[in-house]
Amino acid sequence: MKRSACVVLLCALLILLTASACGLSHPETVTETPAETQVPEEAVSEVETVEAIPVSAPEVTDTPLPTAPPTVPPTPAPTEVVERDPVITLIGGESIEVDADFTFTDPGYYAEDYLGSSLTSRIEVSGEVVPYKVGSYSITYSVTDDGGRSTTVVRHVEVVPVVMPDIIMPPEKTVYLTFDDGPCSYTKQLLDVLKKHDAKATFFIIGERGNVDIIKRAYEEGHAIGVHTYTHEYKQIYKNEQAFFDDFWKTQEVIKEATGSYTQIFRFPGGSANTASRRNKGIMTRLTKIMEDMGYRYFDWNISAGDASGKSYTSGDVKNRVVSGLKRHTDYAVVLQHDIHLQSVKAVDSILTWGEEHGYTFLALDLTSPVLHSQVQN
Ligand SMILES: [Zn+2]
Repeated sequence: MKRSACVVLLCALLILLTASACGLSHPETVTETPAETQVPEEAVSEVETVEAIPVSAPEVTDTPLPTAPPTVPPTPAPTEVVERDPVITLIGGESIEVDADFTFTDPGYYAEDYLGSSLTSRIEVSGEVVPYKVGSYSITYSVTDDGGRSTTVVRHVEVVPVVMPDIIMPPEKTVYLTFDDGPCSYTKQLLDVLKKHDAKATFFIIGERGNVDIIKRAYEEGHAIGVHTYTHEYKQIYKNEQAFFDDFWKTQEVIKEATGSYTQIFRFPGGSANTASRRNKGIMTRLTKIMEDMGYRYFDWNISAGDASGKSYTSGDVKNRVVSGLKRHTDYAVVLQHDIHLQSVKAVDSILTWGEEHGYTFLALDLTSPVLHSQVQN
């Protein structure tokens, strides 16, 4: 029994060895091997490859395994597409916050129907954002697809005030000389005088005058350039908010041409307490807030040189008036002059001399300067 068992085992071993030897040395033996037995080996190696890269390329798992041609056709594309309402996507989200500004630009939106076709051109937008007025606004977007299915979404827009730098109180006896309605040819001699005293000043310009080279020189010599107006036509400027903005921006463009950048400081024509705007009730109350919310600072004055046109005065009169004002405003002073009046320009040398002798410093206005605002009258 034992011997026969050994013989059987030996025979079996021999058969196995022969088969394996044939498998290596005789390819024809392989062709006899049923194809099915080879396929799983390949398939296994493919699966292992897929498992090695699932993180970086998960889409590989969707690739059909390269096995024998499928006997069953692949699953057809879904024949039953679920019909659903169009989808509107709001770029930037359904709730946005924007700084108060002259204009508002919608961040964008698009829409698709359930088949993935664009419906963006069909979106109807309603609702208004007043970009310069701080507050809450809603914009509604609606679209309807070919099947009459509609979608509506709403975007909430919060217009917030521009964050401004803190005001820094200057040392006592700081003077901000300001010159309105220029520049003109007198401005050049004024710049010479300021340079001689190493004093800085602020020019609130009339854009219509041009004189870009003078503005440029003033800016390069360290003086501040602010918007006053383009036309100085009260009736036109204070007609409504948009008329004011249009005038303001025309002047800004002149300033940019001269200095390379826009300014954030300005002075209202007639000052913020003007009554020239009375035809449009409340315009000054609205404009003073709007302009500040948009990040601009306006400056009135606490000393007037009394140099308005049509008045008869000497440069000595101007000097005396400014000096008596400086004596009253020893904390800080904003002096209103006009560099289109020669007698006023001529007074500056003696004003600066007096100031130096009495410990005053003459600086240009900037966004950290104390704002001096008159009581709005309209
Ligand atoms: Zn003016």
